Amino acid sequence: MKKEKKGFVNNEGFSLVELVIVIAIMAVLASAIGISLLRYLERSRTANCASARDTIEKEYYTDKVEIENFRLDNDLPDPEYDIQEFLDEHAGEDKFKCPDGGTFQPDASGEHIECTKHGSNFN
Ligand SMILES: [Zn+2]
Repeated sequence: MKKEKKGFVNNEGFSLVELVIVIAIMAVLASAIGISLLRYLERSRTANCASARDTIEKEYYTDKVEIENFRLDNDLPDPEYDIQEFLDEHAGEDKFKCPDGGTFQPDASGEHIECTKHGSNFN
């Protein structure tokens, strides 16, 4: 076979081994990126859930302060109502559900909301 000395022109194309190596490298990179993306997606869902729980807690404590101190609405529940009652009142609303399919419930202290899927803390 005659080699060209002047340039890099090679009309033979890639060999099968070269193609297999390139495809294998691309597969490894794609799987690494996929795993990384899945991890970010899970962190995003956990953060979204924590944000929703935080918002709901703030609404609960706002309602509780209004009920206990101002009595703005006689139709509001009794002053001793807890987070579980608050969650039950709003059970059908989308924002009172975990965006990732978990269920919100009061934690052991009864002062905060935890998710059956993500727990009570933001990791
Ligand atoms: Zn959740």
